[in-house]
Amino acid sequence: MRKIQMVDLQTQYQFIKPQVDAGMQEVLSSAQFINGPAVRNFQADLEAYLGVKHVIPCANGTDALQVAMMGLGLKPGDEVITADFTFAATVEVIALLGLTPVLVDVLPDTFNIDPDAIEKAITPNTKAIVPVHLFGQVADMDRIMDIAQKHNLFVIEDNAQGIGATHTDAAGTKVKTGGIGHVGSTSFFPSKNLGCYGDGGAIFTNDDDLAHTIRGVVNHGMYKRYHHDVVGVNSRLDSLQAVVLNEKLKLLDFYNECRKCAAIRYSQLLQDHPNIETPVTSGDCDSHVYHQYTLKIVGADRDALVQHLQQNDIPCGVYYPIPLHLQKAYVDTRYKEADFTVTNQLIDEVVSLPMHSELDEDQIQFICKTILAFLD
Ligand SMILES: *Cc1c(COP(=O)(O)O)cnc(C)c1O
Repeated sequence: MRKIQMVDLQTQYQFIKPQVDAGMQEVLSSAQFINGPAVRNFQADLEAYLGVKHVIPCANGTDALQVAMMGLGLKPGDEVITADFTFAATVEVIALLGLTPVLVDVLPDTFNIDPDAIEKAITPNTKAIVPVHLFGQVADMDRIMDIAQKHNLFVIEDNAQGIGATHTDAAGTKVKTGGIGHVGSTSFFPSKNLGCYGDGGAIFTNDDDLAHTIRGVVNHGMYKRYHHDVVGVNSRLDSLQAVVLNEKLKLLDFYNECRKCAAIRYSQLLQDHPNIETPVTSGDCDSHVYHQYTLKIVGADRDALVQHLQQNDIPCGVYYPIPLHLQKAYVDTRYKEADFTVTNQLIDEVVSLPMHSELDEDQIQFICKTILAFLD
């Protein structure tokens, strides 16, 4: 059995090595490291894949979120509602721009932002909602878009974990995540479902004016060479990363299918145990791309299980061990513990198992056997 890893980028690279190496060599020979043809090709291919009008590549997923908020013209004092249970980058950029983050609870089954909690948190200062498609599962976008429309709010989808997932709305229309809200963002960090070999990110929108604004924001606020109309940032995707992404984008649906197969197999082997709750999908089989496969351990010691897995050379992760509203950087007197009953409980129950497109049957069986042996 191959050594089990949380993600297995070495094995994945071996399958695409000839194409990636050749593409990288081309960039080296042409020396078009910035804004070269590889970046433009990737942008166009990703627009086609997502069915979104504009993709603006940038340096990482955190920048993507920040630039999206700058492009929307959000100003200090504006309140932005997001989930208490997500990676810190989501709330970090809100705070960094001097906006007011308003964290709300999530749903106990899907781990995604709770639309009722969003509605409760809306004030006259609320300007935007940032749903996160956590662990690869589409948030409740029908309700979120309804709430946004009713209260005249922007929706910024943090799609760092959900790229390739498809949302089917009540009318049966299918839209890829990242293209549902006013603007979407993603990360190409190596371990994400579509990852490069360094840092990268992108912003998506169907709005021509917003796309134009954001293209300037990522380029020092420049719309005409050396004319700086707005305060911008420097955030670009480089050509070497675009080469990797071009190859991996062709395989993204395949990678996500492999993840789904692994998830189904895990659930078959684990779902009958009384101490285990396997992931719940709220939509159809395209609504979850399993960036993480996350169990809830109920009525048993999650931390002891984590230790036991580590002793058996099985890596695992607790995403996330501390809710954002309890992080020192983001404490706010507006929060009441009673409003975070779900996140406060999830932090003690969740454990994410190895998940990637190269997991094989032997590895999955070994992982599940080790878990079940410990809990019995
Ligand atoms: C990874 C991630 C980000 C940040 O992406 P980087 O490329 O690391 O900056 C933002 N939000 C979520 C939910 C993420 O998982």
